[in-house]
Amino acid sequence: MIFRARRPFQITQNVVDSIAATVGSFPAERGGILGGYPRTGVVTHFHFDLSSRQTGATYSPNAQHLTELLQKHWNPRGIRLLGFVHSHPPSFRQLSTGDKVYAERILAVNDEMKELYLPLVMSAADSGCFELLPFGVTRSGERKVTVEAMKLMVTASVSNGVFERVSEAYDLEWLKRCRVIAVGAGGANQWLNSLARTGVGEIVVVDPDKVELKNIGTQHVYLSDVGQYKVQVVASRLRDINAEARVWPIPASLEEIDDETFARLAMAPWDQIEDREWRLHAAEDRSGPRRTLLCGLTDNFEAQARVNRLALQFGIPSLSAQVYREGRAAEITFTMPGVTPACQRCALRNRYEHFLQRGFKNNVTSNGTPIWSTDRLNALKGEIAMAILHHGTGHSRYGHLLDRIGNRNLIQVRMDPDLAETLGLTVFDRTFAGADRTRLLTDEAVWLPQEPDRPENNYPRCPDCGGTGDLRRAIGRFQDTRVMPLKWEAEA
Ligand SMILES: [Zn+2]
Ligand SMILES: [Zn+2]
Repeated sequence: MIFRARRPFQITQNVVDSIAATVGSFPAERGGILGGYPRTGVVTHFHFDLSSRQTGATYSPNAQHLTELLQKHWNPRGIRLLGFVHSHPPSFRQLSTGDKVYAERILAVNDEMKELYLPLVMSAADSGCFELLPFGVTRSGERKVTVEAMKLMVTASVSNGVFERVSEAYDLEWLKRCRVIAVGAGGANQWLNSLARTGVGEIVVVDPDKVELKNIGTQHVYLSDVGQYKVQVVASRLRDINAEARVWPIPASLEEIDDETFARLAMAPWDQIEDREWRLHAAEDRSGPRRTLLCGLTDNFEAQARVNRLALQFGIPSLSAQVYREGRAAEITFTMPGVTPACQRCALRNRYEHFLQRGFKNNVTSNGTPIWSTDRLNALKGEIAMAILHHGTGHSRYGHLLDRIGNRNLIQVRMDPDLAETLGLTVFDRTFAGADRTRLLTDEAVWLPQEPDRPENNYPRCPDCGGTGDLRRAIGRFQDTRVMPLKWEAEA
């Protein structure tokens, strides 16, 4: 006897519950549409087709309504049609000829679709007990299809398996409700992938660029990505890692996002991000993200500077990173209101002065940067992101790390033993002056304490944070964060 294992039909418990509560509780011949990310094939989305026509013997989806759902709501988020679920009368546990003809038609007009799921429901209203019988329909030759019974595999949550080995490494429940907004998806591409592997539940990615051939040498992109928006490439990988992550790709530059839109991106509950009626005070309802971390991951100075202002304006933490010339060193700056006394502008005072006084243009590109430099920076950036996101959670590893980092919110990494000569950066030599040099060479980080810019520290007040030592006092102080202020306006 030849035993052929049935292929699994993977569906999340949430979707099964929704089907049971709708299709499964009406008499037969009701139905709905199934969706998910095409790379995984796991059914993660369901929409009950309320307006379908029931004749008692057949189920006919409302095509116009479903097309609209796909085009307006699912496709922009990367969710694709995976199949249809409908109910049959209790005695009829197979697909009908009509069902097969319907499947043939769907497969004929969707070339990229390899298989259509057509699970059947035995409704509790008919038989007293809800049952789901999965079938898959594939093409077999010209205008023919093959129907195969599949093995039902309900994943309590796909993530239970995905995150099995890191269930102690992070506070998964907490991270699921955290949001990260990444400005820049180039060198940070791999970092974002790793972030998805920690289970961060909501990720917004902003970048106007498309993948070019020259990016392949310095970023984790592939030949097959060339020509696509970087944010789309990242989004599809993130969903391929965590099918339940909510990912919002924005192929635009930060400049194109005004403060009101940013407020929604940062605080609104996920399903209200696009809702122009949502207002900041609505954040008090606490159904938005538990914590939002804004990341400046570009080599554009103006964008990095806006990140600092946005984080101050909305009282959220920020994390920025930059590779120095030829990847010989790198820098991370971050802020956490209530923890770090200095903002990123205080920490990067010289760079701002160059920019304002001499029309400084950042010409550091990734030219000559070994991929390892980017990867090295990304790893440390991840640790700091975990410290910021877990702060106050009591997690044994990351819950108190930020307290220990404290005011050291400028971190530099040495990736060239001759940094003092090549870039003129001597902080490592100074830091390790009394250390055993025979045991040191390269690949170290220095964690540099930062004081807020104010007269007591021999600097004019920081125009962004005011140098008060409490970043929360800068909340709501900007008219428009798109404008770089030149001086701090004393409170009236
Ligand atoms: Zn049917
Ligand atoms: Zn400042």
